[in-house]
Amino acid sequence: MGLTPISVAIDENRAWDLAELEKALINAKENGIRYLVVHMTMGTTMYGSVDDPILILPIVKKHFNHFFSHIDGAFGGLIYPFTSENNDFNLSNPDIHSVTIDGHKMLQAPYGTGIFICKKGLIEYAQTAEASYVQGTDFTLCGSRSGANAIAVWMILMTHGHSGWQYLMEKLVDRTDHICETLDQMGIRYFRNPKMNIVAINAEDMDDDLARKYHLVADNFNDPKWWKIVVMTHAEKHIIDEFLIDLQKKVKSTTI
Ligand SMILES: *Cc1c(COP(=O)(O)O)cnc(C)c1O
Repeated sequence: MGLTPISVAIDENRAWDLAELEKALINAKENGIRYLVVHMTMGTTMYGSVDDPILILPIVKKHFNHFFSHIDGAFGGLIYPFTSENNDFNLSNPDIHSVTIDGHKMLQAPYGTGIFICKKGLIEYAQTAEASYVQGTDFTLCGSRSGANAIAVWMILMTHGHSGWQYLMEKLVDRTDHICETLDQMGIRYFRNPKMNIVAINAEDMDDDLARKYHLVADNFNDPKWWKIVVMTHAEKHIIDEFLIDLQKKVKSTTI
C-alpha cells in the first residue's frame, strides 16, 4: 500500500514506550510524513496485552493533525469491554475511528465472522466500484458473501444478550484470576492483563512436558519462550486445578 511502517518498542509490561513513540513521530514528521494510521490492539493474541489510547493518542495529536486510529479487537473486543470499566477505548472516543472484532475467537462462531465498524462517513473510503457487476454496494452482504455467517454471529450474540455475555466473560476472568493467584504463590513468572482471560507463562518457569500435556500454546513450538493459557468455557475449574497441582509437584521437585 506504499505505507511507511513505524514500530514502537514496548516495555517490560508490554506497554508502548511513549518516549520512543514521540521520538519516532518527530522523526517521521522530519521525513515529510503528514498522515498517520495509528493501530492499537485490545488483547494481543499471545499475551492479551491491551494498548492504552489515553496515553498514546495525546502524543499522536501533539505532532499530527491528520490521523486515523484503529482498534484491533480481534481477540479482546468481545471480552475486554465486558470486564473493564475503561470506556475510552471504543467509538465514543472522538479520536478512535474504527474497530475490528472477531466472532470466531471469543464467541466461538464459525470462521468468517469478523466485523469491521467505523465512524459514519468513513466506510465510503473502503468502498470500491470495481465489483459493480453485483447488485448493491460493495460494503454490505452481496455477491458470494455469507449471510449464514452473519446470522450465526447475530444468533450467538442475541442468545445470551449483553448481561449474559458480561456474566460469562466475568466468569472467565475469575478463573484466570485463580490461575494467576496460584502462579504467584509458586513464584512462577507470567504476563497477564487483569481484565483478560489470557495468561502467558515464562517458559523458563514452565515444564515443557506439562505444557504439552495440557495443550498450552507456545509462542513458537520449536523454541518456546512463552506458554499461554486461554481460559475459555471448556477450561473448567477441575481441569485448571489438576494442571495447577501437577505444576506444584514439578516446582517442588526442582527446588529440592
Ligand atoms: C486472530 C487475530 C487477528 C487475525 O484476525 P482474523 O480475523 O482471524 O484473520 C488479528 N489480530 C489479533 C489481535 C488476533 O488475535
